[in-house]
Amino acid sequence: MFEALSGKLNGVFDRLRRRGALTEADVAEASREVRIALLEADVALPVVKDIVAKVRERAVGQEVLRSVSPAQQVIKIVNDCLVEALGGGEGVEHVPGISLNAASPVPILMVGLQGSGKTTTSGKIALRLRMRDRKKVLLASLDVHRPAAQLQLETLAKQAGVASLPIIQGQGPLEIAQRAMQVARGELYDVVILDTAGRLSIDEALMEEVAQVKAATRPHESLLVVDAMTGQDAVQTARAFNERVGITGIVMTRIDGDARGGAALSMRAVTGAPIKLLGAGEKLEALEDFHPDRIAGRILGMGDIVSLVERAAETIDKAEAEKLAAKMQKGQFDLEDYAAQLKQINKMGSLSGILNMLPGMGKLKGQIDESKLDGSILKRQAAIIGSMTMKERRNPAILKASRKKRIAAGSGTSVQEVNKLLKQFDDMSAMMKRMSKLGQKGMMRGGLG
Ligand code: GDP
Repeated sequence: MFEALSGKLNGVFDRLRRRGALTEADVAEASREVRIALLEADVALPVVKDIVAKVRERAVGQEVLRSVSPAQQVIKIVNDCLVEALGGGEGVEHVPGISLNAASPVPILMVGLQGSGKTTTSGKIALRLRMRDRKKVLLASLDVHRPAAQLQLETLAKQAGVASLPIIQGQGPLEIAQRAMQVARGELYDVVILDTAGRLSIDEALMEEVAQVKAATRPHESLLVVDAMTGQDAVQTARAFNERVGITGIVMTRIDGDARGGAALSMRAVTGAPIKLLGAGEKLEALEDFHPDRIAGRILGMGDIVSLVERAAETIDKAEAEKLAAKMQKGQFDLEDYAAQLKQINKMGSLSGILNMLPGMGKLKGQIDESKLDGSILKRQAAIIGSMTMKERRNPAILKASRKKRIAAGSGTSVQEVNKLLKQFDDMSAMMKRMSKLGQKGMMRGGLG
């Protein structure tokens, strides 16, 4: 998401930087270009107008023209305006993620259209609450319209390692919701996530059903799940849900796709509800807190290292990582360990998503073949290692032509690919040995000094 917008805005800034000193006409030209970039990104018109007016006003008011680095000033102003449009900024309280600040069991209501990613997001939130907040979570599907929905949630609950409410055929959504709350109180759950039924489009019956469940369960959070790919329709959906049912926040899914990002920028101004979470992939780990300043940073190509580090901290198994690091330091890293490392990287989500969080990647992106970044390389490498015997993994030196052929056939790859992996592993081992030697020297120096 935001790639095209990011590229366009960076083009505007590059031109400003080349000018050096700026005239009022330069600023006017730049704000026209920002306006076009926002419109092309499908940002709602009133929001575009508001952002551009603010940029222009501040650029003139803050004497950008006479400052030493005028382009930098303009970038800062655009950044601040984006942060504000996204629901942040000075003096605005933005609480990322969901609030659990209520008596247990805390009911969380999930609403949204069919296919928006509501059920998947329920599973993602459950996993996060269990892993990060150490909560005892109960998932309950109130979708009696789609027979497979309750089973889908049951499967997701298993994957997330949380409980799901046993299915009783014939019960309506209200009855299920009440039973869920009863069970949660009796069995001392911390949080109950109620996944309501979706429809293909907004209709009165859907709204009525959701409103009834809401009145009966008094949820602490009512989260609307919207698909970023649907652009301004997502914004209209949010407006309708907020007016009819009342929502406390929005989860925007599929930000890993090529949505233009306008919905995210319009959401706060048009609906009044804050975006709280982002869905960035199909995996249950692919859930991010929404921070206006970090998203603005991503749009302006400044990257989002903070979120990247957070995601790494959440998905990477610390004990496992420390074990690997110790082996690396001793120079005992083998292919078995390499496979473990691949698995951890894979858990962090799509590679192109990770790249997006690195500063300056916006510009590079056009030069990279993203289809090659879909993680299939990692999967193929994992398959190659999977086709080796334990002895081979521990001691790759014994891999000669015939073994390589067998491994290539076993993993559905080619001998070249096997060779490439081995070369990469050799390079990596050599580098680790050098680093571990340096580390030891460093330690000695530390000890002597
Ligand atoms: P529901 O009908 O709203 O409950 O939607 P589902 O949860 O069943 O999701 C529909 C499809 O969207 C599934 O194939 C999910 O794997 C996929 N999905 C959900 N969230 C995301 C996301 O953030 N990114 C991507 N790429 N796919 C998602």
